[in-house]
Amino acid sequence: MHLFQVGLGSGGMIVLDLLMREPMISRLTLVEPDHYESSNASRHLFQPSCHGKLKIDLAIEWLQQQRPDIQIDRFAVKLEDPEQHPELIDLARKCDLGICAVDSEIAKYHFDSLMRISQKPWLLGEVLSGGIGGWIHEFLIRNACYGCVASHLKRSIQTEKPVTPNYAQPEAGPIEVRIPATKTSISVIASLHAQLILQRLRQPEMNRGFTSMLFSLEAVPDIFNEPFRTFRFSIQRDPQCLICGDSNSDVLAGSDLDAALDEALQRLGHD
Ligand SMILES: [Zn+2]
Repeated sequence: MHLFQVGLGSGGMIVLDLLMREPMISRLTLVEPDHYESSNASRHLFQPSCHGKLKIDLAIEWLQQQRPDIQIDRFAVKLEDPEQHPELIDLARKCDLGICAVDSEIAKYHFDSLMRISQKPWLLGEVLSGGIGGWIHEFLIRNACYGCVASHLKRSIQTEKPVTPNYAQPEAGPIEVRIPATKTSISVIASLHAQLILQRLRQPEMNRGFTSMLFSLEAVPDIFNEPFRTFRFSIQRDPQCLICGDSNSDVLAGSDLDAALDEALQRLGHD
């Protein structure tokens, strides 16, 4: 099977490390433009001495030691780089499933468009600020898009106080969560992400009964009453949505990712 993964940070590497153990994985398309920083070593698989190297090269080195038989497509580029899109779309069409492990909102929208144009399922893992818990979202063909899920969850979570899924900016969170996520908490959420991916690969037609799952790791006043609880959401596509709604056939039919995405983001009011 062929997986297409964007994001090889501390969470993405754990997902990759778990999935590459499975003999059924034969090909990986990897996208990650960033360099490894030794300041991140406490949360990462790699040693501080790897400082300054491209994360994707460290990941490939790791993969080749464990699974030299896996075919790898290497993209040390931003997903948003239009020059790469024809090749990325071609590979996305050939893959079985997409994996998103990035923090950038714009990259999530781009990945959603890429997978939607290619008609492939994909799963997104997000660690909450401070590592107090995390989300796994699954996007199946013809189901709700990332925009629908993000806007729905902002509304429904508001009542419980907003939670910030960007643990890279802990200062953005409430005072209780102004501590960086530990490697342990990142690993728990990344392992759940990998588990859901494997289930989907083995059972492509399975109906889980939810599209998004929130898992608490800590009790945090006004956010989580207790640790180790799952909250499951079944988020439907909005028929009015300009990405996944009823009038999107022209977007889906096109192969120009930039045009499709620009149009969708403009209509969503997202810069
Ligand atoms: Zn939508």
